[in-house]
Amino acid sequence: MIVIVGAGLAGLSTALHLSGVPYRVFEKEKEAGGLCRSYQKDGFTFDVTGHLLHFRQAEIKALVEGLLRGLLKKHSRRSFIYSHRTYTEYPFQVNTYGLPPEVVRECLLGFIDTLTNPARTASEDRSFKAWILENLGEGMAKHFMVPFNEKLWQVSLDELTSDWVSWLIPKPDLKDVVNGALGIKDKAFGYNPSFLYPAQGGIGALPKAFLSGVGEIAYGSELVEVDTGRRRAVFQDGRQGGRVEEYEILVSTIPIPELVHRCTDLPKAIREAAASLRWVSVYNVNLGVARERISDKHWIYFPEPEYPFYRAGFPMNFSPAMGQSGCSSLYVEVSHLPSALTPPAELLKRIREGMELAGIFRPDDEIVVADVRDIKYAYVLFDRHRARALPAILEELEARGIYSIGRYGRWEHTSMEDAISQGKNLADRLKTMAIGGVS
Ligand SMILES: Cc1cc2nc3c(=O)[nH]c(=O)nc-3n(C[C@H](O)[C@H](O)[C@H](O)COP(=O)(O)OP(=O)(O)OC[C@H]3O[C@@H](n4cnc5c(N)ncnc54)[C@H](O)[C@@H]3O)c2cc1C
Repeated sequence: MIVIVGAGLAGLSTALHLSGVPYRVFEKEKEAGGLCRSYQKDGFTFDVTGHLLHFRQAEIKALVEGLLRGLLKKHSRRSFIYSHRTYTEYPFQVNTYGLPPEVVRECLLGFIDTLTNPARTASEDRSFKAWILENLGEGMAKHFMVPFNEKLWQVSLDELTSDWVSWLIPKPDLKDVVNGALGIKDKAFGYNPSFLYPAQGGIGALPKAFLSGVGEIAYGSELVEVDTGRRRAVFQDGRQGGRVEEYEILVSTIPIPELVHRCTDLPKAIREAAASLRWVSVYNVNLGVARERISDKHWIYFPEPEYPFYRAGFPMNFSPAMGQSGCSSLYVEVSHLPSALTPPAELLKRIREGMELAGIFRPDDEIVVADVRDIKYAYVLFDRHRARALPAILEELEARGIYSIGRYGRWEHTSMEDAISQGKNLADRLKTMAIGGVS
């Protein structure tokens, strides 16, 4: 028997692709979807912060398009950066036109300096900060990359590694940087120049579409203990003593520190390595405002410290069905260390002030819905400890029949597409093993 823990996209995709092999899915919440869920409140539909689909793998794109047949709409990205009281297009490095001339000059000269002074640090030792300086230069570091990323990651960028950045932050060539400084546009830039989004129901339509191909899920069942030697998992489901499941293979999609903490018989070194992994949490503040089209953009990045949020987006610009007519809706994202909590009323006050300062809210705007959610595990920190510890943790788990996948199972910075793809790849691999007498 294969036991799957977590019914987010990684768990659902594993189950969907295991067809013919016996499995059971356990989910601690009352519904499937994990981070990819939507909910209704007072006539608005909100995601647990903005979730947009962009694909690099044709196979996964075809799967999702098949599951959401006729429901997906394609959008050309309208994402901007707000700094120096000016909107410039994302990504910053090829769109400095419109910023004050001295800022544009610093960005251009700094970038040219990176071309004439080759990399100074060996790539495996390079911190994220060094990567920014060596690839984009001092001006872009000062005016966007460092303040934005320090707001997002909540730590000094010297503490982060740079092995994960290249697909997220494309290094432009000089022509693109110069064109961007002069306002000449001849190509789309970045990893997601367009995206797909359901016309109705929010992103939660996606996990719902998986359910028809997945067997019964045990909801309200939280994995609390694993005896990896005897291959037994205990789920707390409200019954006394919980539910004990014997397994041959355990597929876990829950955060690695949570999983390892629950595996009581793992070596001390592995338990300590997992306990030292670091991450940041994100307050997802969803708002409804009684004024139509308060912004024409899809989402905006805020690098400057006077704005408490690092990003805000406008769901009704992806899908008007997400809100009431005559209104607008927003998701606002505020990063914080897991232990640094802010009371919701204080958070809402700061967000309102920041939105008014940015000119997005007017002082007389009425907020008709406000909902604060804390995404405990949002962005994992790629630090030097992670680079050393993660391979050893995953190897030890696999040797004991535990496959840890998904964004927090692999402890990485990946997308919905990756979660689906990892579930499919693991299911394909497990199908070739003889499990429960089925080969
Ligand atoms: C702020 C933010 C914005 C994002 N934006 C995008 C975007 O625009 N586009 C994109 O493609 N991706 C985006 N992502 C990434 C995307 O959310 C994830 O890649 C994907 O949803 C991960 O799916 P998963 O199944 O790996 O994990 P999860 O969705 O976390 O699923 C894990 C499941 O395990 C359950 N669980 C946890 N602990 C237990 C337990 N002890 N017992 C039983 N069940 C348990 C959880 O309830 C959950 O259902 C974003 C992520 C964040 C944080």
